[in-house]
Amino acid sequence: MNSLIIPEPKLTLIPIKDSSQQFPVRRIYCIGRNYADHAIEMGFDPNKEDPFFFQKNADNVDTSGNFPYPPQTSDVHHEIELVVALKSGGSDISLSESYKHVLGFGVGLDMTRRDLQGQAKKKGRPWEIGKAFEHSAPMGELSLIEKSGTMESGSIVLKVNDIIKQQGDLNMMIWKIPEMISHLSQFYKLQAGDLIMTGTPAGVGAVKKGDILEGLVQNLPNLKVRVI
Ligand code: MN
Repeated sequence: MNSLIIPEPKLTLIPIKDSSQQFPVRRIYCIGRNYADHAIEMGFDPNKEDPFFFQKNADNVDTSGNFPYPPQTSDVHHEIELVVALKSGGSDISLSESYKHVLGFGVGLDMTRRDLQGQAKKKGRPWEIGKAFEHSAPMGELSLIEKSGTMESGSIVLKVNDIIKQQGDLNMMIWKIPEMISHLSQFYKLQAGDLIMTGTPAGVGAVKKGDILEGLVQNLPNLKVRVI
């Protein structure tokens, strides 16, 4: 039997509320501009065009409650998002079958080096340098769909140092959860372990060391993160 020439990369695990089991992360798909008010604040027309996605890396997930301020930036923004966790997948999943693949939901932050993302946009370059860096996806515990419900509506809030900065309702999403799953499955083979970050409402803004970010989404376990 062949052995590994280097140590095996560590699997990223997310805890599940009231469970000793954990969720292993495979891929992270993130949708862009999925709330009209956020599309407008970023300078775009919110009229429904085809959804677009970028990815973060599985090992960008951080459940430690700390967000180390990243290098090579002076403008890191918070984006509070509902996270969908898949227990199965496939290709060409129909809208009506989509929810059958959902294990549960969590609260996540799509932390963004906005200055680097802005430069990339201007030059027509990929977004990874602004989006997919170490610790860029702080996440809280997952809640199973049997407990959380389908999360089609409900409040989504981000507080920074106890002040509400982002506020919306999940029913304001331009692309709904089944539409995102169905659309992604036309381009990728979705699998158990995949996460979908479903976009952020208006109010994104810069963070600084010492800030306490608190994400509250409907009845999901809260996410509390300190910028260090
Ligand atoms: Mn986002």
